[in-house]
Amino acid sequence: MSMPVVAIVGRPNVGKSTIFNRIVGERISIEEDVPGVTRDRIYGKGEWLNVEFNIIDTGGIDIGDEPFLEQIRWQAQIAIDEADVIIMITSGRDGVTATDEEVAKILYRSKKPVVLAVNKVDNPEMRDQIYDFYSLGFGDPFPISGSHGLGLGDLLDEVVKHFPNKADADYDEDVIKFSLIGRPNVGKSSLVNAILGEERVIVSDIAGTTRDAVDSPYTYEGQNYVIMDTAGIRKKGKVYESTEKYSVLRALRAIERSDVVLVVIDAEEGIIEQDKRIAGLPHEAGRGVIIVVNKWDAIEKDEKTMNEFEKKIRNQFLFLDYAPIIFVSAKTKKRLHTLIPMIKLVSENHSLRVQTNVLNDVIMDAVAMNPTPTDKGKRLKIYYITQVSVKPPTFVLFVNDPELLHFSYERFLENRIRDAFGFLGTPIRIIPRARK
Ligand code: GDP
Ligand code: GDP
Repeated sequence: MSMPVVAIVGRPNVGKSTIFNRIVGERISIEEDVPGVTRDRIYGKGEWLNVEFNIIDTGGIDIGDEPFLEQIRWQAQIAIDEADVIIMITSGRDGVTATDEEVAKILYRSKKPVVLAVNKVDNPEMRDQIYDFYSLGFGDPFPISGSHGLGLGDLLDEVVKHFPNKADADYDEDVIKFSLIGRPNVGKSSLVNAILGEERVIVSDIAGTTRDAVDSPYTYEGQNYVIMDTAGIRKKGKVYESTEKYSVLRALRAIERSDVVLVVIDAEEGIIEQDKRIAGLPHEAGRGVIIVVNKWDAIEKDEKTMNEFEKKIRNQFLFLDYAPIIFVSAKTKKRLHTLIPMIKLVSENHSLRVQTNVLNDVIMDAVAMNPTPTDKGKRLKIYYITQVSVKPPTFVLFVNDPELLHFSYERFLENRIRDAFGFLGTPIRIIPRARK
């Protein structure tokens, strides 16, 4: 499912992040744990009139030491590249400034719909101040107050009107959608080219909407696949694309649309902090994950090297213990042929449904082997478990008191489920629920 993307642009201090937070609302706290986006969030989900969308605060993306005006130009360009609809924010307290005009000039050149908001219109008497803003050329300005939460409904009504027809952008259920994420230069675009250049890969050109042009569909041994957001991976050369926040943003978009995510690591450079932040994203989003160590050709190795590298990865990415690791070279094509079958396997596990009675046998055996913990004299009782959904496989565990299911015991149950059913490459979720 590809969700529409809304980007907020505007010069500093007009209230972009205030409005972003208003629109994303209480969802922020849910996603607060996502590594890399905890501080200075720039990406979130919003919902209006039952339509969900992604929203980007471009003001949160700073591009090195570039001068002020350059930064703003880049932010506007990112909005144009990424968004279906752009909200340009100005301030009713300041009137139209030269910088506002500068931003508007950049936005004109794109064909993206722009909705103009005049913020800090905190009371009805101030509404007269919006008329100057017609001069920016984006039609009716919408008076809002981010701090008081006024006018946002009318603004979002207008934004939602410009969303593209969602149905066009989706793929059939049986198509496996995957993406490659990783910091710049790990070899993502080389890998995409190598995959598409593989023997037996039949590149298809499904005609689609403009949005679909960013994806690469192909067929391998009768199975249809789409590599998501390849345009963003292959497009090179813009300065902002190498900034960390922007690469996280790109990764989030690709993850959103994927069943399986390949986390690409550079064997030559090893694992750095940024890799860890990026690797946490598909896990949090509940997608299938494969760790791909690329450039394996480039390092000196003996028979121990692979094991040692694998150990290092396991130590650094503790939360991804279920993810298979594949060592490849986009350059020499070594072991590349193992990639597509692994994507297929992980995708199958990601949507695997297990039988309720077998599942309950597994859990009851586990409990018999390792009794449930007690807390302050009260023992956890497990009554029943059932799988409620797939992608990722999600289980509801009926217990006497959810508080008593500590992390370590939950982990133990998860491992028993994995031992019994596999689930290689997919996170699984266990949700405890009280049964009266
Ligand atoms: P950004 O730099 O565009 O992201 O702007 P911020 O969201 O950080 O807001 C800049 C300042 O404007 C902060 O001090 C906010 O509290 C203030 N502000 C934001 N929205 C409003 C508003 O609707 N009315 C008033 N009076 N102040 C606001
Ligand atoms: P991206 O930014 O993640 O898309 O990375 P690129 O695909 O542009 O690759 C970055 C650099 O790494 C380029 O110079 C590639 O030629 C090089 N590269 C990519 N894959 C391999 C590989 O498997 N082995 C070696 N030795 N170099 C590679």
